[in-house]
Amino acid sequence: MTTPIQAIRGMNDILPQHADLWRFFEETVQDWLASYGYRTIRMPIVEQTALFKRAIGEVTDIVEKEMYTFIDALNGESLTLRPEGTASCVRAVLQHNLLYNAPQRLWYKGPMFRHERPQKGRYRQFHQVGVESLGFAGPDMDAEHIVMTARLWRKLGLDGIALQINTLGTNEDRTRHRAKLIHFLESHLDVLDEDARRRLHTNPLRVLDSKNPAMQQLIEAAPKLLDDLDEDSIKHFETLQGMLRDAGVAYEINPRLVRGLDYYNFTVFEWVTERLGAQGTVCAGGRFDGLIEQIGGKPAPACGFAMGVERLLALLEDGGFQPPASTPAAYVLHMGEAADRMALQVAEKLRDGGLDVVLHCGGGSFKSQMKKADASGARYAVIIGDDEVLAGEISVKPLRELSEQTRMTVEAATDFLQQK
Ligand code: ATP
Ligand code: MG
Repeated sequence: MTTPIQAIRGMNDILPQHADLWRFFEETVQDWLASYGYRTIRMPIVEQTALFKRAIGEVTDIVEKEMYTFIDALNGESLTLRPEGTASCVRAVLQHNLLYNAPQRLWYKGPMFRHERPQKGRYRQFHQVGVESLGFAGPDMDAEHIVMTARLWRKLGLDGIALQINTLGTNEDRTRHRAKLIHFLESHLDVLDEDARRRLHTNPLRVLDSKNPAMQQLIEAAPKLLDDLDEDSIKHFETLQGMLRDAGVAYEINPRLVRGLDYYNFTVFEWVTERLGAQGTVCAGGRFDGLIEQIGGKPAPACGFAMGVERLLALLEDGGFQPPASTPAAYVLHMGEAADRMALQVAEKLRDGGLDVVLHCGGGSFKSQMKKADASGARYAVIIGDDEVLAGEISVKPLRELSEQTRMTVEAATDFLQQK
């Protein structure tokens, strides 16, 4: 016997038993985004590697060690499975000139790929819902993003997700701050791990993003960017906070929140829960006014966020959430040659009436077919045997309540089942 082939580590099958939960989540998200006027965009899953290097930044976890990069054997191009959606979304918007004359509110969903160590809430193929607003400069759009995510948690019935915000200021703020930070970190070289030493001069702010427990005390003590902000940065941040207070959205300022990607400026935020262990961030985003120019477009402001779908679904399940089940209205049983032929037509007629119907296939006794009908979750069994064929009618039997079966025409059955 040959050994069976397994899925790749960290890449999961999503089985039918989870289908209702995913469907509920995706439908809720779709309605929620429509209620804020966001339009869908769908990008390819593979892009040129250069796009992510330019957009995300060379000195980041993603580009340094998490990307699935390969050479296209046909033309030698370096390609990468997308690790996130923002770069592709902005690339698509620029390529199709969507920003010409009109700002854009866009969203997308789909799988992302990162070569990380798989663990609870951290996978190599995972799913994001991403939202991007391109061409909006003011803090009102940052506030919209945060307020709308708060509404999504309410719609999903999720509580206990806390908001952390911070500002990364402007490029100039960061340059000023950088010198201080490098000076501080250099005087504590012995505490820095390998990654941190490597990033000390290329990207010192990123050192503060480290999750290494041995460095947390040092990170706490490091100089704060918040103390090096210019007036514009402070105003943007304070206006945002005022809007959040007006909207009744509670927040905490976390001066250590720098986010794992290079392209952010001004606002950054994360929604965090304590119920998922170490992988507690369920949604993260912020403003990235430099990105569009960085990947070759005419400068334009932008901000956005992405949610980790698996983490949000884990939260829903952890809270005992039962998604509305999608069960068929009827399961059609049949026995005998004429009945078999009639059953196919009956099932089609019931579906013409908008009903979800499962037609029994594969023969067997009425008893064994009835067991399958029951297991299908259908509310009614439709039974067709010799008697029904002779009468040109069908029998309808409730499966979820004690009640007799009734003989009726297909038309009457359609009406009857539609009422249920
Ligand atoms: P983390 O600090 O957990 O690695 P990140 O900063 O790398 O997160 P982002 O790039 O901001 O994550 O992605 C947005 C969201 O996508 C995260 O907040 C998280 O919910 C989800 N996410 C990111 N990486 C993974 C992964 N490997 N598996 C599952 N979900 C993920
Ligand atoms: Mg990460």
